[in-house]
Amino acid sequence: MTGPVHISPDQTDTLTLLGTGDSKGVPRFWCACPVCTEARGVNGQPGVNRRTRTATLLRSGGQSALLDAGPDTHAGLARLNGPLVPDAVFISHAHNDHLLGLGDLLDYVRYAAGRLRVYAPPEVVPEIAARFPYAFPEGEGGPVQPIPPQGVPVGEVVVRAFRVPHGANGHSHAYRLDRPAGAGGDGWSAAVVTDAIGIPPELAREWLRAPGGAGLDTLVLGTSFEDESGAPLTGRSVYDVREALTLPWAQAAGQVVLTHLSHGVDVRHAGHLPPGWQYARDDLTVHLPAAPYRPGPPPTHNL
Ligand SMILES: [Zn+2]
Ligand SMILES: [Zn+2]
Repeated sequence: MTGPVHISPDQTDTLTLLGTGDSKGVPRFWCACPVCTEARGVNGQPGVNRRTRTATLLRSGGQSALLDAGPDTHAGLARLNGPLVPDAVFISHAHNDHLLGLGDLLDYVRYAAGRLRVYAPPEVVPEIAARFPYAFPEGEGGPVQPIPPQGVPVGEVVVRAFRVPHGANGHSHAYRLDRPAGAGGDGWSAAVVTDAIGIPPELAREWLRAPGGAGLDTLVLGTSFEDESGAPLTGRSVYDVREALTLPWAQAAGQVVLTHLSHGVDVRHAGHLPPGWQYARDDLTVHLPAAPYRPGPPPTHNL
């Protein structure tokens, strides 16, 4: 019998983007546009634009955590090389494309008597309880804990959450990841901001800069479309690529990975992205201690 294995410590400090699509996934099941057609693939082989809903796997120091658990999380974990039980799961906000995979994970929490820790920002915990009432029996503390302000350690990394504007959808949360400098080497700072638009400069200064005001080492940023300037701003909820390219805190980051991509983005056409920027694809792994951009081999693709 083999038990759950943890990833070996030498593979420290990576993010694997298991799901890189917007809320509807790509292909949209009713759509025949060129991107959705390419995504469907040929002879059962998916196209490069095939994207599942948000789930991101953080690995550090032999531990791992899921940042969001969209409805395709089971399939994403099934594609990993060997069994894995994350040490923690974080949910940023109570939208289907970020938490429906929690059903499977909450079942696991019950089977494994709480071995999997689940966290969400304090205001999101009751919303999760309302979505999964069976997992929150009356009179008992439920299986989801509030993320404390000082964050939650995962391996050598501290995970925190901060509130961000989500346009027409109100607000969401984003993740801040920090590895303090220490005996293990230089520290780094990263953020995963999948669902946001119109982040005010003071919020960006606090959360989207490295200590001292330098750029983050790594920014994972949601951009659902290339250019939504034709849509009324009041109806939008996520940055587009055109806006992302102008954000000072994105320009300052060592590497930028654009994710939460709808069928309005074709990852085969990335020539307009500056050095250090790339489109995410499902299962893309990025190394978090990214130095400021140096030309070299691209991060590994696992497709
Ligand atoms: Zn989303
Ligand atoms: Zn389409």
